[in-house]
Amino acid sequence: MYDTLIIGSGPAGMTAALYASRSNLKVGLLERGIYGGQMNNTADIENYPGYELISGPELAEKMYEPLEKFGVEHLFGQVVEVQVEGSVKKVITEDDTFEAKTVILAMGAQHRPLGAPGEAEFNSRGVSYCAVCDGAFFRNQDLLVVGGGDSAVEEAIFLTQFANSVTIVHRRDELRAQKIIQDRAFANEKITFLWDSVVEEIKGDERKVQSVNIRNLKTGEVTEHAFGGVFIYVGLDPMSEAVANLGITDEHGWVVTNELMETNQPGIFAIGDLRQKQLRQITTAVGDGATAAQQAYHYITELEG
Ligand code: FAD
Ligand code: NAP
Repeated sequence: MYDTLIIGSGPAGMTAALYASRSNLKVGLLERGIYGGQMNNTADIENYPGYELISGPELAEKMYEPLEKFGVEHLFGQVVEVQVEGSVKKVITEDDTFEAKTVILAMGAQHRPLGAPGEAEFNSRGVSYCAVCDGAFFRNQDLLVVGGGDSAVEEAIFLTQFANSVTIVHRRDELRAQKIIQDRAFANEKITFLWDSVVEEIKGDERKVQSVNIRNLKTGEVTEHAFGGVFIYVGLDPMSEAVANLGITDEHGWVVTNELMETNQPGIFAIGDLRQKQLRQITTAVGDGATAAQQAYHYITELEG
C-alpha cells in the first residue's frame, strides 16, 4: 500500500514525488514511458527560473536525479483505470494493480491531430508532431508548420536551422504565441506566414509528403504548395481516459480541481497540464506538484488521526 501513487513523471509528477517523499510518505511514481514528459520534446527552455537556457531532456534529468535519494519507487506501466474503494484507491495498469491511500494524477497532455486528409497516411513519412525528434531529417527542405501558438512558432524557429524555408500557416491573422517568440519569428528571414488559412489536404507519393493544399478562409481559394514536411502544432488533448469513470473531468476531458489540486474524489489530486487551467507551463506544473503533495500529506494525516 503506497501512501501516494503518482501517475506520470513529467515535471508535475516528479515535483509531487520530491515533495511527498521529503514528507516521509511512501511514494510510487508510475510512468508508461520515459521520465520527463513533454520536456523530452523541447530543445531549448528559456523560461524556467534559474536557467538562462537549458534543454528539455537535461532539465528532466535534473528533476529526476534527487528522487532516488528520497526513496521514490519507480514503477513502469500504462494506467488504464483508477478505482475508488472507500479510502483505498486501486490503480490498474495493463499488467498490475497497485493500492494507495492517495493518488496524484499527472498524466499531462499530448498533441492534438489536425484531422486533415493525408495526415494519418503520411504520419512519419513527412508529417510530424515533434521538431526536436524529427527536424534533422528535413535538411534543406521547404517545411510547413501548422498552428499559431507557442509550440508552432517556437518549433518553426527551431526548424530553420535545418530547413531551406519554413512557412507557418495559421487560421487567423494574429498569432497566439507569446510576444517574444512572435518577434523572433518575424525577424527570421527563413520564416514566412500564410494568414487566415488552413490545411485542406496533405499529398505525396508512395514515399513521402510532396505538397499541401491550403485554403484561404477569407477568399475560399485553394492553392497547392510544394513542401517536404509538415509539422503540426494545433494544441493539446488531456491524457485522462484512464480516469473517465471517476466523474472528475470537464466536457473536454481536462480534470477539474480547486486551488489545492483536489478533485471531487477525496484523496485524488490532479496536477500539471492534465488540469483545467489557464497556463500550461513547466513552472505551473511544478507548482501544482508541490501543492498536491502537501495536500496528500494532510489528507493521510487526517485519515489516520
Ligand atoms: P507531461 O509533461 O505531459 O507529462 C505527463 C507524463 O505522464 C508523461 O511522461 C506520460 O508518458 C505520462 N502518462 C500519460 N498517461 C499515462 C498513463 N495512462 N499511464 C502512465 N503514464 C502516463 N513549457 C515551458 O514552461 N517552457 C517551454 O519552453 C516549453 N516548451 C514546450 C515545447 C513543446 C513542443 C511542448 C509540446 C510543450 C512545451 N512546454 C513548455 C509545455 C510543458 O512541456 C508542459 O506544460 C509540461 O511538460 C507539463 O508537465 P506535466 O508533468 O503536467 O505533463
Ligand atoms: P495552443 O496554445 O492551444 O495553440 C494551438 C494553436 O493551433 C492556436 O494558434 C490555434 O489557433 C491553432 N489551432 C487549433 N486548432 C486548429 C485547427 N483545427 N486548425 C488550424 N489551427 C488550429 O497549443 P500549443 O502551442 O501546443 O501550446 C500548448 C501549451 O504549451 C500552452 O499552454 C503553451 O503556452 C505551452 N507552451 C509553452 C512554450 C513556452 O513557454 N516557450 C512553448 C510551447 C508550448 P487559434 O489561435 O486561432 O486558437
